Amino acid sequence: MKVLYVEDEKFLADAVKHNLGKEGFDVDLAYDGEEGMEKAVSAIYDAVILDVMLPKYSGLEILADMRKRKVQTPVIMLSALSEVEDKIRGLEVGADDYLAKPFKTAELAARLRALMRRPAKIQERCLKFGDLTYDLDEKTLNGVSLTQKEAGIMAELMRTPEKLLPKEFLLNKVWSDEAFEDNYIEVYVSRLRKTMRKLKCSVSIVSVRGMGYKIVRNDV
Ligand code: CA
Repeated sequence: MKVLYVEDEKFLADAVKHNLGKEGFDVDLAYDGEEGMEKAVSAIYDAVILDVMLPKYSGLEILADMRKRKVQTPVIMLSALSEVEDKIRGLEVGADDYLAKPFKTAELAARLRALMRRPAKIQERCLKFGDLTYDLDEKTLNGVSLTQKEAGIMAELMRTPEKLLPKEFLLNKVWSDEAFEDNYIEVYVSRLRKTMRKLKCSVSIVSVRGMGYKIVRNDV
């Protein structure tokens, strides 16, 4: 289970990552609101843990941004015990759960597991570009199912169409802590291209001189 934890107290963040790791969670960290917001809108996480007080953007702002973009990844808000108002506001903005600081990792792990057991929300979470629609929940491209890695790459490309995404960015994003080799991307992109050819869609993935990839319309 892949989890994003946005926390500016680095010591706490690193400790929680370590402890949740032992419980079988694959934790990605962001140390400020800006980085957190960028990562939180990505479709690769099963859950997001947001501290409320963060530099740049608050946890509440990140959550509001996620929900505005129809990103329905379950969110647990973290805040100091006294901040009851934060809890109310967090739940109003669309948090799925709330945990007061300080907390035990076992408690956080239990909450995360509980979130995962909830029935999936039925929402339209789609990224559209040209005649291509990528469904973030179903991981389908115009209805065709993609593998986990293909889906990860496609989600990134579709989120920022026409923008060049460096190979390293995609590798880090999609493979994260797993071992990978440089040519993995080529393999998966070629599979995606094959799928897209079959779909006869009017957009394609182009590579830019070994630097990276972007998704573009064929007619421009
Ligand atoms: Ca904080």
